[in-house]
Amino acid sequence: MFRGSIKLGTILGITIRLDYSWFIIFFLITWSLSAHRLPLLYPEWSQLTYWTIGIITSILFFTSVLTHEMAHSIVARKQGIPVNNITLFIFGGAAQITQEPKEAKDEFLMAFAGPATSLILSAIFWVLYLFFRNFSEPVATVLSWLGSINLMLAIFNFIPGFPLDGGRVLRAIVWGITKDFTKSTQIAAAIGRGIAFLFIFVGIWMIFGGNWVNGLWIAFIGWFLENAATASYRQVALKDILQGHTVIEVMATDCPNVSGRLTLDKLVNDYILYTTRRCFPVVENEQVKGIITLHNVKDIPRNLWAIKTVADAMTPFNRMKKVSPKEGLYDVLEMMASEDINQLPVVEDSRLLGIVARDNILAFIHTRSELGI
Ligand SMILES: [Zn+2]
Repeated sequence: MFRGSIKLGTILGITIRLDYSWFIIFFLITWSLSAHRLPLLYPEWSQLTYWTIGIITSILFFTSVLTHEMAHSIVARKQGIPVNNITLFIFGGAAQITQEPKEAKDEFLMAFAGPATSLILSAIFWVLYLFFRNFSEPVATVLSWLGSINLMLAIFNFIPGFPLDGGRVLRAIVWGITKDFTKSTQIAAAIGRGIAFLFIFVGIWMIFGGNWVNGLWIAFIGWFLENAATASYRQVALKDILQGHTVIEVMATDCPNVSGRLTLDKLVNDYILYTTRRCFPVVENEQVKGIITLHNVKDIPRNLWAIKTVADAMTPFNRMKKVSPKEGLYDVLEMMASEDINQLPVVEDSRLLGIVARDNILAFIHTRSELGI
């Protein structure tokens, strides 16, 4: 969902982005207001009025969604949890909060802040509506619509299905009682999936009843929630397996060293194809000069492999991304995913101890989950 987005600006140090899918929902909401709802209620207005009011209302709606996400983010930052950005997309908004809260109380406040803000916004719009309804009909119409949609947003987000805010509130409560983060995530995610399937079922039922636009939309939201619940649970389960384990347990220490003077042809034939390893430390006079990976080799055109050497193609020591043997496996896996690298040299006091590869960590996870540890 976050493959393409544009940067809108920065509020309180948090980058606000618009996912490409957001334009679809912005258009749909504006269009349903300007071409359907408003002409039905006020047939005497002009086309220009319909569209102007439609666009302003849509913008105010997404400002409300943004305020909801800002509320989550501000509470998160107060607790020392960094917030990378907020992205508005087809299903609303998402604050990219990179860490899980450390305590049940923190999670409770962080999750609760969003729908509570929507509820407050709804109340504000309704009060303004009561004030404006004697002065301006168009303004009052916009305000009453915003009052209802923020109320719906609050109610929807209070549904206790993880990863919706209500599901996080539920997890925080179970977590507070049981003191078991993994177990409470498991429970909240299971309820989340149940609610997601209910959405899909109701959606399909509505499609067969002839209300296919709303039915499709509800089924689509259900499908999104199901995916999100499963993914969130997997991530927590993964963290649980890797908890307390460090690089030193999985790193490979038997990597053959190669010389920088070796030609790439020789490296490929005598080392890469021969050992099936993908990464070799380059050592000269017992000093690590760098590292050469399959990626480095592939960057050099094949017809030059006979003349280019390992030293020409390698990543030199000072530009190598390194990890310490004491680094946690979950953090290393996250780093590999975000930097898109498959292996990292393990270095301590500028000595190379070994190589940790994504495969090593995956094998570690696989063995443990198969044995049920
Ligand atoms: Zn929320």
